[in-house]
Amino acid sequence: MQPLCIKCLEVEEVTVADTADHIIPHRGDPDLFWNGVLQPLCAACHSRLKQREELGQVITTFGQDGWPVD
Ligand SMILES: [Zn+2]
Repeated sequence: MQPLCIKCLEVEEVTVADTADHIIPHRGDPDLFWNGVLQPLCAACHSRLKQREELGQVITTFGQDGWPVD
């Protein structure tokens, strides 16, 4: 696993990741928790993105040129 936050890298920032995030919310499912795919995130991105994703909101990341990344 790379040690840098992948969400910060999307907007060309370099932040050391300190959180292994489950790409698929495990919601307490032990199979997903132990076998799910992880992605490295920093704490700030983890709390910002996952709270919104788990509320069912669409996540849009904007690059430095002001246009959505994706
Ligand atoms: Zn980040």
